Amino acid sequence: MNTTQYKATLAYALEQDKQDLLRRFRKKFHIPKDVNGKELVYLCGNSLGLQPKKTQSYIQEELNEWANLGVEGHTEAKHPWMPYHELLSKSMAKIVGAKPSEVVVMNTLTTNLHLAMVSFYQPTTTKYKIVIESDAFPSDKYAVESQLKFHNLNPKKSLIFWKPRQGEDLCRLEDLETILEEHGNSIALLLIGTTNYYTGQSFPIQKITELGHKHDCIVGFDLAHGVGNIQPNLHESGADFAVWCTYKYLNSGPGSLGGLFVHEKHANNTNLNRFAGWWGHNKKTRFNMRQEFDAIPGAEGWQLSNPPILSMAAIRASLAVFEEAGFENVIEKSKKLTGYLEFLLQNLQDSRIKIITPTNPKERGCQLSIAVKNADKSLHTKLIKTGVISDWREPDVIRVAPAPLYNSFEDAFLMVERLKECLQ
Ligand SMILES: *Cc1c(COP(=O)(O)O)cnc(C)c1O
Repeated sequence: MNTTQYKATLAYALEQDKQDLLRRFRKKFHIPKDVNGKELVYLCGNSLGLQPKKTQSYIQEELNEWANLGVEGHTEAKHPWMPYHELLSKSMAKIVGAKPSEVVVMNTLTTNLHLAMVSFYQPTTTKYKIVIESDAFPSDKYAVESQLKFHNLNPKKSLIFWKPRQGEDLCRLEDLETILEEHGNSIALLLIGTTNYYTGQSFPIQKITELGHKHDCIVGFDLAHGVGNIQPNLHESGADFAVWCTYKYLNSGPGSLGGLFVHEKHANNTNLNRFAGWWGHNKKTRFNMRQEFDAIPGAEGWQLSNPPILSMAAIRASLAVFEEAGFENVIEKSKKLTGYLEFLLQNLQDSRIKIITPTNPKERGCQLSIAVKNADKSLHTKLIKTGVISDWREPDVIRVAPAPLYNSFEDAFLMVERLKECLQ
């Protein structure tokens, strides 16, 4: 679509919804309503994705199996619980561009990040530093700082921040290059969050991986804000590992399980250091109980525990919706819809508003971060009162994320109309 054709009218937005290939998918989700029963404009999929209507029956099915079979459900359920996680690997692999054997759904994001660092952050006396974006998500910062301390290293000396330049909001790739040229010999790990949770900036995964590898660094990604709205092509990128959660754009419910990608060049090396648990052990001998640990080849070998089936059922339901929609269609709609929201915001021509997210669709997912000069949290509160659910990040940023599966062009239109009212 040629974005110069965008029009700032409700009629245009409704017409776009009519023409939208994925239009019927909105009805497959529960859209939260206000006290009068009117649908809210929900633009917060970056924080918690909405519930697919399918989810309830997927979870109910496992509740029934448990009620009827008890422990036998592990082997006798229609979808036996013992290999249940395997049901997710193929669809999840598509969404992150990996081979199914490189992907496993387990634990939660920060836990997986720690487990990945146990295997892939192995500092030596000369090569020990970690690079992250200066505005990395706090949990990622805490995780790397605590890993450094765990290895008796001082985060103040061993953690390098990839920062935006003075007066800029976004990180430049050439600055990461400079960091690597200056400190590459002492850097062990690059850990980059893409899409960045605050600015909405997406980084070129393959380029960063190549840069890091040129300097013999391990390169890992946190895809919490990327998965489900960008195609990270993890296998082809050569990235060493990646982690993500499933409750944001993957709509699998509050606190649901996370994902881990381990590139096959490492994943099949069963001697690789790891924190182990019985669910990562050879499936054939797992229940012999007295064997020495024998890691499953592939990402599955990083599992610790038998997983929560009810959460996995929710992930299965969500992935079924993605399968039905086709991930390429999701990405295509995402670009159009985010582009439309951007157009409408620019069309306000309000000098207080600045979108800090990159304008190039290749450098962002579906989130736009809107800095509003001199605004405080009361603006966000006002916006919620008009029925628009977004989120607020100090000091002055409203984040909005039109999720391609359930948000409409009308949502984008209404959001901007109401922001305009709130700014008057
Ligand atoms: C959402 C998010 C998290 C949250 O971590 P949990 O372990 O799932 O609570 C961590 N890192 C990033 C980058 C996130 O966006």
